[in-house]
Amino acid sequence: MRKQASVLHLDLDAFFASVEQRDKPSLRGKPVVVGGVGGRGVVATASYEARRYGVRSAMSTREARSRCPHAAFLTGRFHAYREASDVVMRLLREVSPLVEPLSLDEAFVDLERAGLPDLEVATVTAYAADLRERVAVATGGLTASIGLGTSKFIAKVASDLEKPDALVVVPPGTERDLLRPMSVSVIPGVGPVTAERLRRAGIQTVADLEAVDLAELLRLVGQAQGTGLHALARAHDDRPVVAEREAKSVSSEGTYETDLTDRRLMEGLLTRQAGEVAARLRKHGLSGRTVTIKVRLHDFTTLNRSTTLPEPTDSTATVARLARALLTDLDTSGGVRLLGVGVSGLADWIQDDLFGESSDTDGADGAPEEDEVLGVDAVEAGVKARRSVYAPGQDVEHDEMGRGWVWGSGRGVVTVRFETAGTPPGPVRSYALDEPALRPWRPAEPTENDMPAADPPA
Ligand SMILES: [Mg+2]
Repeated sequence: MRKQASVLHLDLDAFFASVEQRDKPSLRGKPVVVGGVGGRGVVATASYEARRYGVRSAMSTREARSRCPHAAFLTGRFHAYREASDVVMRLLREVSPLVEPLSLDEAFVDLERAGLPDLEVATVTAYAADLRERVAVATGGLTASIGLGTSKFIAKVASDLEKPDALVVVPPGTERDLLRPMSVSVIPGVGPVTAERLRRAGIQTVADLEAVDLAELLRLVGQAQGTGLHALARAHDDRPVVAEREAKSVSSEGTYETDLTDRRLMEGLLTRQAGEVAARLRKHGLSGRTVTIKVRLHDFTTLNRSTTLPEPTDSTATVARLARALLTDLDTSGGVRLLGVGVSGLADWIQDDLFGESSDTDGADGAPEEDEVLGVDAVEAGVKARRSVYAPGQDVEHDEMGRGWVWGSGRGVVTVRFETAGTPPGPVRSYALDEPALRPWRPAEPTENDMPAADPPA
C-alpha cells in the first residue's frame, strides 16, 4: 500500500454494449444486449438501459429475452471492440509507461510514472478527470469509470463504486473505513464458495473478516487463500502495476512442409495444439478468456481469428472446440502452411498474483462443457454456422445505401438499418438473403500476425 493514491484503475462502462450504441445511433438510450444470440447463448454485456430490467452478464440469453423482450440482441463485433480497446490502451500508455491491461476494457495505470508534479489527492484527481475526457473524445464517446487509490485493490474497488461515468478517489488513510461495511465478496478471489464458507462462520462484511485472526482464517479457507484474505481485509496490497501483461499469452504453432488441405487433419492439429496450450496454462496456474487461431495460407497471408469467453478457461476441451470452430469460416482450400492456437486475456487480475492457485472456473480436462457458449461470437470468426451469414448486429454494406447493420434475418429476408457512428438514426430496408448489392462489411485484414510469440509466462 502506497502513501499516495497513485494507482489508477480505468474501466470502460458496459463496454461491448456501449460500442454498439456508439456505432448504431438508433440504439442510443435503448436496451442493448450483446452476446450469444442462439439457443444456448449467454449475455456478454448489457447496456445500462437493459440492466434496469435485470439483465446481467453471464445470464442466459433466453432469460435476458424474457426479462427485456424489447432489447436489441446483438452478436458481438470483436473487431470494433478490439479497435476501441487499442485506442484506449494507447492513450493510457501516453500517460504512463506502466499500464497493465486486465482485459479489453480495463487497465491499471501507475501514476508514479506519469511525470506529475506531485501525487497529492487534488493533483491526481484533476489528472484523472482530464483522462476520462480524453478517453471519451478518443473513442467517439465511450465513457469510463476511474478509481484512484493507494493500491490495485482499492483503485479497482473505487472504480466500481459509482459506475457508470464516474471518478472516485479514495484518499490515503481512508481505505479501511471504506472497506469495513462492504461484503467480503468485494475482495478479489472471494467467490461464491469462499463467501458461503465465511458466511457460515458468521463472517459477512470486511469488518467481520478483519476481526478474525490469521490462524482462524487459515483454518476456515486454507493456506493459500487465508493469507491473502487476511492482508486484503486490512487493505494491505503491495502488488505492483506490471506493464506488458497483455502480451502474456500461451500459444503453440506449427509450420508444415507441404501445404495442408485436409480439414480433418487441420482440426486434428489444432486439437493437439490446444492440448499443449491448455496443459501449459494449467502448469502455470493460469487461465485465459480469448482463444485465437493463426492460419498462414499458401500465399503467405496470415489470418488471426479470435473469440472471447465470458469466463477464463484452462480446459483442453474448450480451447480445442473453439479453435476448431474458428477454423470453420476460413477458406483454406488453397492450402495452409502454418497453424497455431493461442490463449490470451490471461486469468483474472488476482489469480496468479495473490492466491497462486490455478483457476477453478473451468474444472479440469475431460468432458466437453456443452453448456459453455461464447459470450462474443465474433461474426467474422465464423463461430456460428456458415449459413447464417447475416447475424444480428453485423456490419453490412449496400451498393447504393452504404454502410449499415443487420437488424434481423429469417425466412429468406434480411433487414438492415443504414446508419453508422457518424450518421443520425437511419432508414430500415429489407432484402432477399441473396441480394447481390448487399454484403457483409469487414475492416481491412491485418496482414501480419499479431499473435505474440509462444513464450510461456514467467
Ligand atoms: Mg468494463
